[in-house]
Amino acid sequence: MQDNDISIIIPVYNESENIQALYTRIRETISKMGVSYELLYINDGSTDDSLSQIVKIAQADSEVYYIDFSRNFGHQVAVSAGLEHSNASCTVIIDADLQDPPELIADLYAKHKEGFDVVYAKRQKRKGESFFKKLTAKLYYRLLKNIVSFDIPLDAGDFRLVSKKVVEAIIKMPEQNKFLRGQIAWLGFKQAYVLYDRASRKHGKSGYTYGKMFRLAFDGITGFSDKPLLFVSRLGFIISIFSFLLIIFAIFSHYILEQTITGWTSLIISAAFIGGIQLLSIGVIGEYISRINVNVKDRPLYIVDSTNIETTKKKEK
Ligand code: UDP
Ligand code: MG
Repeated sequence: MQDNDISIIIPVYNESENIQALYTRIRETISKMGVSYELLYINDGSTDDSLSQIVKIAQADSEVYYIDFSRNFGHQVAVSAGLEHSNASCTVIIDADLQDPPELIADLYAKHKEGFDVVYAKRQKRKGESFFKKLTAKLYYRLLKNIVSFDIPLDAGDFRLVSKKVVEAIIKMPEQNKFLRGQIAWLGFKQAYVLYDRASRKHGKSGYTYGKMFRLAFDGITGFSDKPLLFVSRLGFIISIFSFLLIIFAIFSHYILEQTITGWTSLIISAAFIGGIQLLSIGVIGEYISRINVNVKDRPLYIVDSTNIETTKKKEK
């Protein structure tokens, strides 16, 4: 079997009301582009009727594939599963909630044809997202950019096109805590972007709870930087020197100046301060250790309940 021109990966978590509209818009875009394609839906443990809608689409369109997870494994895992199974010269990752306009796929593809291996969609405006989400995202990516040793694009999510070379390299990266936008940036290759205005979600609500968002943020930092560890060890060092000087001063003041430093308040404040710093430092170390733990267990990244991808297709990869 020959590679398709383009493979489109769509992670789905409770997107019942968006699936049909997304499919129609993708099909329109693809037929205008005149390329061969495959659509790959990953149903990430939806509790609504997303799966039955996808199955119906797959029965009517032989270029549509799906993988149904046994439960919710998370957006990054769903996309990773898509990358593992994609079979095309280039692959596009797109959200199912119509926040990423499918029409932009034509622009991403045109840029790819100019010779770029990664073409990401850079957000000019973001509609319908909370002030808190936009602010934390802005601060977070600027922080991340400062502490990693490679170039991370700002104001870009996972909506992007990657070439087969990039897909093959990503599949070889063994980490369990996926942070794909970081992994793709880490790989290098020729990168370009196209600008777009991010729409608001058409129907339903975001599947990214604050819990999932923070986990992803920590995965991004721990996966690509040791700076937090360096920071806490330096902080510990500075505080130790400071308290040592304080002890010398207290002894000096008691014996030489004959003025004993008293004070319950200062004692409690400094004990609480040091206690806080210690807990923070243990927490930072814990974030790294818990990720070592997950990686040592080396469990499968996801469990498949059902799929229409025959083993022959997988073997040909
Ligand atoms: N998604 C997923 N698993 C999850 C959460 C989300 O596969 O646990 C999918 C979701 O259906 C959508 C994409 O990932 O296609 C982006 O999620 P969402 O729109 O909820 O995130 P937001 O745009 O609010 O950051
Ligand atoms: Mg969304």
